[in-house]
Amino acid sequence: MSETLFEKIINKEIPSDIIYEDDQSIVIKDINPQAPVHLLIIPKKPIPMLSKATESDKELLGHLMLVAGKLSKLLILDDTFNIVINNGENAGQTIFHLHLHLLSGKSFNWLPA
Ligand code: 5GP
Repeated sequence: MSETLFEKIINKEIPSDIIYEDDQSIVIKDINPQAPVHLLIIPKKPIPMLSKATESDKELLGHLMLVAGKLSKLLILDDTFNIVINNGENAGQTIFHLHLHLLSGKSFNWLPA
């Protein structure tokens, strides 16, 4: 299988604004921000989408959530942010490597358009 765009970013083959990185994840600025703060929390393991995750990914999925909380403190987001996961093409997913959108600094109506 060919590398996803996010694998290329993780491998530093493509440049990005990296906000945070650890052994299991990387956090970058979204290239097309939909809020004053729009970050992508990406697992280094290339899971195509949330619904393809398995029991063995349980700890990793929890880790990604904890990274969101860590970013809130790091970037002083005042505990105010939204997490969005698009799962599947019809739900707006365009990059088939699981990622969490972290959005802050803007109020969204539920559901965002
Ligand atoms: P999705 O639509 O799959 O949920 O989210 C993909 C996100 O990746 C979009 O918000 C899009 O703006 C962002 N994106 C696409 N290409 C790049 C890129 O080359 N660099 C960065 N940093 N973000 C990208």
